[in-house]
Amino acid sequence: MAILPITICGEPVLHRPAEPVTEFDDELRQLVDDMFETCEAAPGVGLAAPQVGVGKRIFVWMYDDQDEAPARGVAINPVLWIAPPEPGLPGEDEVEGCLSFPGERFALRRSPRALLRAVDIEGKPFEHEVTGWFARIMQHEFDHLNGLLYVDRLVHPENRGAQKAERKNGWGVPGLTWTPGIDDLEG
Ligand code: ZN
Repeated sequence: MAILPITICGEPVLHRPAEPVTEFDDELRQLVDDMFETCEAAPGVGLAAPQVGVGKRIFVWMYDDQDEAPARGVAINPVLWIAPPEPGLPGEDEVEGCLSFPGERFALRRSPRALLRAVDIEGKPFEHEVTGWFARIMQHEFDHLNGLLYVDRLVHPENRGAQKAERKNGWGVPGLTWTPGIDDLEG
């Protein structure tokens, strides 16, 4: 097990669609173990493979708040169905963060419900129907597999804040990472 460096906005692997997983082998098992360890150390409620520099359709979640899905899990080659979000601007309780845009938070409206279908580490299909924060986490992580960060979805004026933060931090260029436990940052 190892804590992996987390890619920061601007690293190309975060901004392109990830590839499906085809081999369910020891290498995959190792990667997923390391993703759990990295997510826990960050700490985060979810982590997608592009965030550790791997362009594969994998994300993990660690969110122990309801019984719609296990408190931790891995989704491989997922598909996600969502109901359209309610129209209107996001409220203050809809603030999101991302380990690849660390230390910043912005409000974003998400769908209150999502249905996740994926396979597990053995390649076995499963599904979870989730609501509220769980649904938000699934949408956030699923976006990562399609090359989207939550900051790409922000609407005015939140998007201005994110652009400012990106400039201030010197992000938006390739090659930047931070490592939980080594660098003093948090998601
Ligand atoms: Zn993220």
